[in-house]
Amino acid sequence: MADSLTIALSKGRILQETLPLLAHAGIELTEDPDASRKLVLETTQPGVKVVVVRATDVPTYVEHGGADVGVAGKDVLMEYGSRGLYEPLDLRIARCKLMVAGRPDAAQPRRPRVATKFVNIARRYYAGQGRQAELIKLYGSMELAPLVGMADLIVDLVDTGNTLRANGLEPLEHIADISSRLVVNKASMKVKHRPLKALIGQLREAVEGGQ
Ligand code: AMP
Repeated sequence: MADSLTIALSKGRILQETLPLLAHAGIELTEDPDASRKLVLETTQPGVKVVVVRATDVPTYVEHGGADVGVAGKDVLMEYGSRGLYEPLDLRIARCKLMVAGRPDAAQPRRPRVATKFVNIARRYYAGQGRQAELIKLYGSMELAPLVGMADLIVDLVDTGNTLRANGLEPLEHIADISSRLVVNKASMKVKHRPLKALIGQLREAVEGGQ
C-alpha cells in the first residue's frame, strides 16, 4: 500500500481553503466535513484519506506518522518549532501577520507583560532583540488581557485589524508574515516518494495557477 496517503487538516479556514487545492490534485472528500462528526474522511482517490485534527496538533500528527502530510499555519509551525518535518510548499492561503499589539498611547515599561498563545515565538522574538518581557500564556481572546490590566502587550495574528480596533488596540511591531504550509513526514517522503512527489507537484501547480 505504498500509494496510501493520510492528509491531516484542521476544520475551518484551512480545510475550506485547502479543499480546492486538493481538488486540483484529483482529491475530493466524499462527504461534507461540516455535516459529519467523523475524524477520518474518505476521498475520491482510493487509499487517500483526510484526518481532521486541531490546528495546533497538525505538526504533531505529521511528525509522529499519524499522517503522511498536513497543512498548518506558519504560526503553528514556528510555535511548534520542530526540525522533524519537511515544509516543501507555501500554499499561500490563510494569510495574515503575526504582530505585537497594544494600546496606541500607552508608555511601555522596560519589561512589558506580553500575553499570547505564541510563547515560544514571543520568547525568541524578544530574546533576538535583546529585550526583556514577561510572557503570559493564554489560549485565546488575547485582546482582553490589556483591557483588564493583565498585560501591556499581546502577540497575536492580525488579518484586517478589526479585532484589535474593536478592543482599542493597534498593531505595533511586525514579527512575521503568516500563511499555511504543506508539511510532510520525513519517513513518508522516502517510503511514499512517488505519490507524495505527485501530490506536491499538483498542489504547487494549483497554488501557482492561483486556484
Ligand atoms: P482580524 O480582526 O481580521 O485582524 O482577525 C484577527 C483575529 O482572527 C484574531 O483573533 C486572529 O487570531 C484570527 N486570525 C486572523 N487571521 C488568521 C489566520 N490566518 N489563521 C488563524 N487565525 C487568524
